[in-house]
Amino acid sequence: MKHGLAIAPTSPTLRPITRVEDLVSQGLVTVDAGEALQPVVDRFQLRITPEIAALIERDTADGPIRSQFIPDERELIIQANELKDPIGDDAHSPVRGITHRYPDRVLLKPTHLCQVYCRFCFRREKVGSGAEQLSDAELDVALAYIADHPEIFEVILTGGDPFVLSDRRLAKIFDGLQSIPHVAVVRLHTRVATVDPDRITPDLIRILRRRFATWIGVHVNHVSELTTAASDAIARLVDAGFPLVSQTVLLRGVNDRVDTLTDLMRALVRLRVKPYYLHHLDFAEGTSHFRVPLDVGKRLVADLRGQLTGLAQPTYILDIPGGFGKVPIEPDWVEKVSERHYRVRDWQGRIHDYEDI
Ligand SMILES: *Cc1c(COP(=O)(O)O)cnc(C)c1O
Ligand code: SF4
Repeated sequence: MKHGLAIAPTSPTLRPITRVEDLVSQGLVTVDAGEALQPVVDRFQLRITPEIAALIERDTADGPIRSQFIPDERELIIQANELKDPIGDDAHSPVRGITHRYPDRVLLKPTHLCQVYCRFCFRREKVGSGAEQLSDAELDVALAYIADHPEIFEVILTGGDPFVLSDRRLAKIFDGLQSIPHVAVVRLHTRVATVDPDRITPDLIRILRRRFATWIGVHVNHVSELTTAASDAIARLVDAGFPLVSQTVLLRGVNDRVDTLTDLMRALVRLRVKPYYLHHLDFAEGTSHFRVPLDVGKRLVADLRGQLTGLAQPTYILDIPGGFGKVPIEPDWVEKVSERHYRVRDWQGRIHDYEDI
C-alpha cells in the first residue's frame, strides 16, 4: 500500500514480488530457472519486498540475502525427520491464535501473513494463508483466554508478522491487552522493521506505547539486512523507548561463520539492539540445505565468546521437536570430573581445574 501509493506506482521495482514472473521480469532469476521454481512456489509462498529485492540485486548467486528469500528447488526435498509443525505449536493451542506452552507467557498469532516469506521458516506450513487471519470474534476469544489466566505475565505477538496488520487492527489488539491488568509485558516479533522500514511510523509507535512494557524482537540473519533505512527504523523504535532484542537463525551459507556472526552481532549492538537468540534451525519441511550440525553451531558460539563483548552474545537455542520448549545449547565449558571437581575450558581453549565448595 505505502509503496504502491506514496511512491511512484508505475515502477515495478517498488511492488513486492509474489510470483515467479515477477522474479523473472525483475531480472532476479532467468526464464529457465523461473520455470523450475514454479513447483516450489506452488508449495511454499513467495514474497519479497522492494527493499529486499534491491539487496538481492547486489548479492552474489549464492549470497546471504538471495538464499534466504529466492525459492530453491531443494525445498522440494522433504526429509524423513522434517515436520509440518516442527516445534509443536498445535499441541499447546487452547483456542485459535493462542499457543500456551509455558505458564507465564503465551503466543498470540493474529495473522499468518508476512511481508517476506523466508525460505527456511519454521512455520512455513502456516504462513501466507489468508484464511489463517483471526476474525474479530476469534480475537475476542483469544483475549478472553488471556484475561482468564492471571498467570500470564507476557503476551508475545507473532505469526506471521504482527506489523503487517493495519494500525486499526493493532490498536484493537493493544486496547484489548491494555484492559487485562495482569499483562505486564507485550513482545512483538517482526521482520518488518528491516524488510519494510517505512511501516515504522509515528502512528504505529503511538499504538505500541502503553501502560505495559512493549518489547520488540527483530529477526535479522545477516549484517547486510541492516541497511540505512532499516537502521533508521530501528533507531525510531529505540528512540521511542522500546527495548529491542534480536533473533537470528543459524543458516548454512548465510551466517555460519564466526566473522559473519561477529559483524552481525556488533552491528546490532551498535544499533542498541541486544542479541537475544541464535536459533538452531527447526526441522521444517524442505529446509535441509540450510542445516548446520549442532556441533558446528556449538563451536561457533564458543568462538564468539572469545571474540565479542558480552553485550553481543546471543543464546544459542534449540526448540525441542514436538512442543517440549526451548533449551539453550552451551559449548562444553564445564565438565564434572568427581564430587567437587570440575574441568573448565576458557575462551582460548585452555583447561583449568576448579574445586567447588
Ligand atoms: C519461543 C516461544 C516462546 C518465547 O520463549 P522465550 O524463551 O521467552 O523467548 C513462548 N511460547 C512459545 C510457544 C514459544 O515457542
Ligand atoms: S518473517 Fe518470520 S514468520 Fe514470516 S516467513 Fe520469515 S521467519 Fe517465517
